[in-house]
Amino acid sequence: MTASPDVDLVTLGQRLRHLRRAKNMTLEQLSAVVGRAPSQLSLIENGKREPKIGVLQAIAGALGVQMQDLLRPEAPSRRAKLEIDLAHFQREPAYAALGLPVVRPGRRLPSDALESLIGLHRELGRLLREQSATPEVARRANQQLREQMRERDNYFADIEQAAATVLQSVKHTTGPLSQRGILDIAAHLGFTLHYVPDLPGSTRSVTDLRHNRIYLPQVASNKGHDPRAVVLQTLGHFVLGHNDPADYGDFLRQRVEANYFAAALLMPEKFAVQFLRAARADRALAIDDLRDAFGVSYETAAHRFTNLATHHFGIPVHFVRVHESGTVYKAYENDNVRFPADVTGAIEGQPVCRHWASRTVFQATDPYSSFYQFTDTVGGTYWCTVHVESTRSGEFSVTVGTPYEHARWFRGGDTTRRTVSRCPDPSCCRRPPAGLVDRWSGQSWPSARVHSHLLAALPPGTFPGVDAQDVYEFLERRAT
Ligand SMILES: [Zn+2]
Repeated sequence: MTASPDVDLVTLGQRLRHLRRAKNMTLEQLSAVVGRAPSQLSLIENGKREPKIGVLQAIAGALGVQMQDLLRPEAPSRRAKLEIDLAHFQREPAYAALGLPVVRPGRRLPSDALESLIGLHRELGRLLREQSATPEVARRANQQLREQMRERDNYFADIEQAAATVLQSVKHTTGPLSQRGILDIAAHLGFTLHYVPDLPGSTRSVTDLRHNRIYLPQVASNKGHDPRAVVLQTLGHFVLGHNDPADYGDFLRQRVEANYFAAALLMPEKFAVQFLRAARADRALAIDDLRDAFGVSYETAAHRFTNLATHHFGIPVHFVRVHESGTVYKAYENDNVRFPADVTGAIEGQPVCRHWASRTVFQATDPYSSFYQFTDTVGGTYWCTVHVESTRSGEFSVTVGTPYEHARWFRGGDTTRRTVSRCPDPSCCRRPPAGLVDRWSGQSWPSARVHSHLLAALPPGTFPGVDAQDVYEFLERRAT
């Protein structure tokens, strides 16, 4: 029988050693009294062996203390506490992964050196925890990045320049970039492309830096992912000189920059601006046309439009990608539209007002055709154009909007469709209608379907992560 399953052996050993020294006993003297080899007692004092109850009783007797004195969870002294902490820190997998030697905190190790080691271990642990992308960290990083994008109107002059230089070097002179042009760019940068069937599921590409090979998935119709964009995003990391990201914020920033670079190649600034200028002159700016002219996805075209609209045409804009469930996945604005936000200012996973175009589009008779809407919000009236995209994770609306006075430059800017949004006033659409609450409150029990990356962003409410009004309306439909 051993001492106890929840006794910390390092602390037990430290207490034993402390009490032995307080009695001025050597290991040899103690071993003679309890009838155990000094080497065995040494292992116990170093926390490396769990003593049997009988041995502990014998030791307690020899030292003239109660067995409970040996088993108490506190360190016997400040120095012992430091030694115990060091032993624990050095047993962490994170420390083992560093490949550094294990320091034995013997008597010859000065206390200040010990204090310093403990401090470094604590700081290492803090940094590792900070870098791990908890939902909270991820949301804060997203928010900071959004603020930086807003400050520069989502226009990155240095990346536009890098893209223009690459295009010049492969003598690209027409509008959209072809597959041939992409091969030229890869070759120019010293890379070859290899399409393979066994790319790891968690990657969009893998680059062999030793042989300058970029491995890409073989799947032809990778839903929602333009295979050209994946190549260009990968090349973007090298052209923009990205190193291993230092933290999650760095990782996000690099991703945004690489995506920007890819879009700047697929829709070169010079040609895209020419195209948009002509459309604006006709008062017919349209994301669909930009998409068709450059052969990209709607979302890529919409996002690219936000890069150029304010910088070149003085049109402030917002962009938001909303899941059919009504929650925000991605958003950008420099037109002061008020996205739903939690107390920390994070918007990911927040429910969009039911009266916003991003959500009313799902009720449209044909949500896949061009959809325009004016929305009166508490912050002013906005005009929006919305497109619905079907993906493996469901349907998403992609919205580009602008304040009322800029609608005239867009096709659909004369739409008569108009809604009123009073959010964040809860009576706008957050609170289910009183009649439904009377009928269904306390009589329903929905089970939330949770998107793991949005876990921390679950909007509070009657049912966490579930829209009560949707649930009540569903029950109402089914019950009649
Ligand atoms: Zn609302």
